[in-house]
Amino acid sequence: MKVALSLVVPVYNEEENVPLLYEAVLAAAEHFPQPWELVLVDDGSQDRSPALLRQLAAQDPAHVRVVLLRRNFGQTAAIAAGIDHARGDIVVLLDADLQNDPADIPKLLAKMDEGYDVVSGWRKDRQDPFWTRVLPSAVANWLISRVTGVPLHDYGCTLKAYRREVLREFRLYGEMHRFIPAYAAAVGARITEVPVRHHPRRFGRSKYGLNRIVKVLLDLITVKFLLSYFHKPIYLFGGLGLSLSGLGGAMLAFVFVRRVVWGISALRSPFFQTGLMLVILGFQAVLMGLIAELLVRTYHETQDKPTYVVRERLNVDPPSARR
Ligand code: UDP
Ligand code: MG
Repeated sequence: MKVALSLVVPVYNEEENVPLLYEAVLAAAEHFPQPWELVLVDDGSQDRSPALLRQLAAQDPAHVRVVLLRRNFGQTAAIAAGIDHARGDIVVLLDADLQNDPADIPKLLAKMDEGYDVVSGWRKDRQDPFWTRVLPSAVANWLISRVTGVPLHDYGCTLKAYRREVLREFRLYGEMHRFIPAYAAAVGARITEVPVRHHPRRFGRSKYGLNRIVKVLLDLITVKFLLSYFHKPIYLFGGLGLSLSGLGGAMLAFVFVRRVVWGISALRSPFFQTGLMLVILGFQAVLMGLIAELLVRTYHETQDKPTYVVRERLNVDPPSARR
């Protein structure tokens, strides 16, 4: 039987939630239009979660797939493992802690049918602490929307549906699962969002503290760099380098003219050293840009990665199939 829909769930120390999650998915599955599977990824739990997952796999082999990771690799890696093992054309991600409601999945699927490639859940009425969760998240969503140019209300909501072909185009690192919509937009995906329910966590603890904020910020810088400059890093490094050198050059010219016209010592002016430093820094930045350019070429040429992404082919095979 061909699986059309894969639900991918990362599980880390969620022993109380696993049986409830399975029940909730079963209840929601009555409204799934297509054959489905539930891909549960155990992210190195120390509690009884792995045993419970094994039990579910034995009990419902038609639907439940289980991937057990060797240790705790983090939510993003667990999600990536789940996506790699999913067989459906549509992949829906959700959390194991029942904060997301599987009953919302049919709503996401209905939106997919309208022709979208990504349907993002939006926890409009979010049930989390305000100061440590809701507020930082609101700031993050605003910032991520501005920086990536993909406006969404809720990047942090795991409950989202993706067409698998858009997921295949990139790998996930760090805390990057929240940036999937931005990556997907970069490969030409059509994106929309729908409000979804959100429940307080009833069992177990949240796996994250405030240090996630720093990680998300650093990931955002990486994502911005990759999305805007991956193919042409020299534009970033070179642009920065030329500006710095230009500024430094102007300072040096200023002290030079002052020396020649008014006889004011150049060596004792702070502009002299600052200017010199900026010129050197600028050159360094340009050189780094050139090295980055070499790396990009190595990446594309050794892995035979094209610099474009095809949406569809009509009456023509992909180039690799023709060799
Ligand atoms: N999770 C995981 N590996 C980790 C941390 C979390 O697989 O290292 C899973 C966790 O079991 C849950 C989901 O990721 O299914 C979201 O985690 P959590 O509910 O703690 O995040 P929050 O909702 O507090 O943002
Ligand atoms: Mg949660």
